[in-house]
Amino acid sequence: MKIIDLRSDTITLPSQEMSDAIFKAQLGDDVFSEDENVNLLESKAATLSGKEAALLVPSGTMANLISFLVHCPRGTEAILGDKSHTFIYEAGGISAFGGIHSHQLRNDMDGLIDLEEIKKSIREDNVHFPQTSLISLENTHNKCFGAPIPREYIQEVINIAHENDLKTHIDGARIFNATAALDIELSDLVDGIDSITFCLSKGLSCPIGSLVCGSKDFIYHARRTRKALGGGMRQAGIIAAAGLVALENSDKQIHKDHKNAKLLAEGLSTINHISIDVNRVQTNIVYFKLSNDIMESNKFLKAMEDAGVLFFESFANQYRLVTHYGIHESDIYNAVEIFKKHLSF
Ligand SMILES: *Cc1c(COP(=O)(O)O)cnc(C)c1O
Repeated sequence: MKIIDLRSDTITLPSQEMSDAIFKAQLGDDVFSEDENVNLLESKAATLSGKEAALLVPSGTMANLISFLVHCPRGTEAILGDKSHTFIYEAGGISAFGGIHSHQLRNDMDGLIDLEEIKKSIREDNVHFPQTSLISLENTHNKCFGAPIPREYIQEVINIAHENDLKTHIDGARIFNATAALDIELSDLVDGIDSITFCLSKGLSCPIGSLVCGSKDFIYHARRTRKALGGGMRQAGIIAAAGLVALENSDKQIHKDHKNAKLLAEGLSTINHISIDVNRVQTNIVYFKLSNDIMESNKFLKAMEDAGVLFFESFANQYRLVTHYGIHESDIYNAVEIFKKHLSF
């Protein structure tokens, strides 16, 4: 039985071409900036994102943490969404290691934060208040149906930031899913944003790695912060070699992933007891609900796992499925059949 693993795009394994590139990579010490593949990857990431410089780091979590640490002096406040990865899933690192106060604002179903709410939340200059330093967005928005955040909205946020002398950051763990869905170049999508991070290890299917992109000055500080956090890696070319292959080839795969997610959502929408809004599925993430109390989530997940389909419960009674390089169109049809079998009562 083939396991159809829809838990996350983080489970992706490297392609043969990536494995070959990793094996053959010429290595050097990247803490001395002497690894050719790392230097090349960082320069490609900078060009792609339209920023002056970029830095390879071990994970998306560290990429966001470094960005916040560089932008936000201790005791200042960062505005971010209440469903954002940085707020929910990064172990409170910005607070623990940066002394950064988070100001969470409601993310709507499209992953956006109301612009008026952002304006209202920026602190006046008053000795009682922390100073606001940063506005952070997430694109695509994991918890909000994988929604891509459009350019027009990003520009509005940049305008607010500039009027108030604030920095802007985008957690772009899945930014290439956003550019594919919005049909826009990355450099255009993030133009004017101070820092943008993206993961190699999700839809791009590399084993490890994330990039932080920004101005030369920002990356200069980010590099020292990476070292302080223990994220300076030596012969990191084994990571960068895979990243270079991914940046060349991932576009086609991401479009396939989006098509498969849509197919999956359409298939699920025909099944008893499943409630799903197919129109919300714009990238590689599919959320659905079961009708009230139809089955306990533990039992449901276990039954599906035994039948070979893996996924997670994300919110209470709200399940998340993610398509990726390891999932083929035939897997989608098979998964839908298995769902049907378990819910036909
Ligand atoms: C996965 C993810 C991260 C963090 O990535 P890790 O490499 O797992 O630390 C950050 N932001 C978002 C939106 C993510 O989905």
